[in-house]
Amino acid sequence: MSDYFDVIIAGGSVSGLLAAREITALGNKSVIVMEEDPEIGTPQHCGGLVSMDGMKNLGVIPPPNMIEAKINQAKISSPSYSFNLNTEGQNIIALDRRLLDKHIALQAQRNGVEIRTRCSVRSVSEKKLNVDNNPGSSQIVKTSEGDFSCKFFVDARGVASMIQNNRHGIFQSGQYEVYASWIENGKVEVQFDRDKYPGFFAWIIPTGFGVGKVGVAGNGINPATALKSYMGSKGEKYSVVRKVYAPICVSGPIENFISDGQKVVVGDAAGQTKPTTAGGIYSCGMAGILAGRAISNAFEKNDSNVLWNYQQSWLGIFHDEFNKMLLVRRLLERIDNKTLDQLFHSVSQSTIREICRIGGFDFHTAALTKIFGSRQGIKIMKAILGNEIRRLLI
Ligand SMILES: Cc1cc2nc3c(=O)[nH]c(=O)nc-3n(C[C@H](O)[C@H](O)[C@H](O)COP(=O)(O)OP(=O)(O)OC[C@H]3O[C@@H](n4cnc5c(N)ncnc54)[C@H](O)[C@@H]3O)c2cc1C
Repeated sequence: MSDYFDVIIAGGSVSGLLAAREITALGNKSVIVMEEDPEIGTPQHCGGLVSMDGMKNLGVIPPPNMIEAKINQAKISSPSYSFNLNTEGQNIIALDRRLLDKHIALQAQRNGVEIRTRCSVRSVSEKKLNVDNNPGSSQIVKTSEGDFSCKFFVDARGVASMIQNNRHGIFQSGQYEVYASWIENGKVEVQFDRDKYPGFFAWIIPTGFGVGKVGVAGNGINPATALKSYMGSKGEKYSVVRKVYAPICVSGPIENFISDGQKVVVGDAAGQTKPTTAGGIYSCGMAGILAGRAISNAFEKNDSNVLWNYQQSWLGIFHDEFNKMLLVRRLLERIDNKTLDQLFHSVSQSTIREICRIGGFDFHTAALTKIFGSRQGIKIMKAILGNEIRRLLI
């Protein structure tokens, strides 16, 4: 007979752990999180850039040792132009993802969640089964540690899960930990270049003085070659002390977050990362929380239809913003370097002041439309997006 849990969660990162924490908030459900890596939070493949507001909504007050840097400036560049944004009002920080994930794991464990590392989920039965002595259970989960059964299964396996179904909108990224004098403490850098990073950009996230995470992503690029050339362009020596390569997903959310009335998909696995920047700590974390609450309610009401509240509430928060981000993505994928330069050249000082004023790290399309809002910008957008431009501006 297989071990029974009310809920089995595959993937012990931000979305899976937050779902686990929420389901067990009332303390009466058995929940296990299975993580295939040997350690929660490791290997860290994330830039860790988040807003303090976002963290608060996730129920995490980052302790000082989790905060690697406060971000008060951002330099955004096209191949030939750049502008600086003052981001102080947005309360952005760079977090140590290893510590964040472990912090949430501890919150979940204190609610009664069991976390098992080096335990890989291999498959979930499609068939509904009634397991002896567990009338509520109906799914068999095959893992590297044998078979388990559960009532609800949560897929929080990240982009890996998405790749199994569809590769559309998945880009390869590389992110290195770098020591270099050109990394300025508190200043994020974003470099657009259609030829070098098609559909995406290169970035620097400082974690201290002369220390930071330097990354690139793009459609069809070789991240190692692109990173070497990006860091080489800085003209001064640097040392790479850690290298990580990972896929990112920018295709937007999948159609259904629930299947068979008992399987729930959350986080990167559901495409819930921002289509502009692939940032997902906040939107994926919120998905975990909303899914966890819906599962808890489904138990309480003995009605799996309640699970759909999760999809409804996540879309209620993110649908419009993500739709606009998908339009910006279309621009990013089609714009050439000459047009990109024209666009950056047209950004005035008053626009920059306005962007800094409205800010919005988690919901940033209002600020982005300011960049495209000049006469030149609108002309460019119209040429690329046609009538859809209206959807971006309303
Ligand atoms: C280079 C890079 C930089 C990023 N920078 C930022 C940033 O600055 N800010 C931001 O907000 N977001 C950033 N992101 C995105 C962010 O990391 C993700 O959106 C977020 O981690 C998604 O969380 P998740 O729990 O859904 O999935 P993941 O964090 O991907 O976690 C999935 C977990 O499932 C586990 N797993 C996979 N398969 C199995 C299996 N079969 N069985 C058991 N476990 C399994 C994995 O080991 C992993 O622990 C970045 C991503 C990348 C790649």
